[in-house]
Amino acid sequence: MFDDDDMIMISALQHAMFCERQYALIHLEQIWAENRFTAEGEALHERVHRERHESRRLFREEYGMSARSLKFGLTGKCDLVEIWLDPNTKKPIRVNPVEFKRGRKKANDVDRVQLCAQALCLEETFSLPIEKGEFYYLQERRRVSADIDDDLRAKTVAITAQIRAINACEKTPIASYDKKRCDACSLIDYCMPKYATKSVRRYMQNQIKAGLTSLCESC
Ligand code: SF4
Repeated sequence: MFDDDDMIMISALQHAMFCERQYALIHLEQIWAENRFTAEGEALHERVHRERHESRRLFREEYGMSARSLKFGLTGKCDLVEIWLDPNTKKPIRVNPVEFKRGRKKANDVDRVQLCAQALCLEETFSLPIEKGEFYYLQERRRVSADIDDDLRAKTVAITAQIRAINACEKTPIASYDKKRCDACSLIDYCMPKYATKSVRRYMQNQIKAGLTSLCESC
């Protein structure tokens, strides 16, 4: 069991899967910068979390619900949790996490791992098994079901272990430039991945050259 000081934010799993260095910059060095993707994602989640909680006789909707798991050391907010109640006891009998996404379905497992982490937390909160969750893709305006299966659970647990290993060594991994990934990263200006393997001298020469070019252009 983990205690409150040793929790990993569910959002951190996404950062670590995207890039371990990005995870360390955000969560160890407390560096954050917005770009279009992060700003749009943030605005979407704020809007979702402000939605009213709906309640019918045997069904509840909780937007922006906080959840945590002491067993896995995870904590975070779920966009929407749908809860079905037993007609006799009025206790929850089924729980369905729904994660809202701005874009389309991703080819990789990043979103599924985030949903699985929410499911692990909600299973502990409600003492109920959760075998499925859903995504709501705004661009496509449709819900997509996702299995919370053993493989996904193992992957999610492995990523939390990977994060704990980064935390334990307290070292930010060295950058490695990958055009597709880094050009979409909001931290590229802090990270400077193109210069990670170049010498400081070469870096300074490039900076001076770039400065002189922009000076000449403004003459
Ligand atoms: S710029 Fe690239 S290497 Fe640096 S944090 Fe972002 S994704 Fe990782």
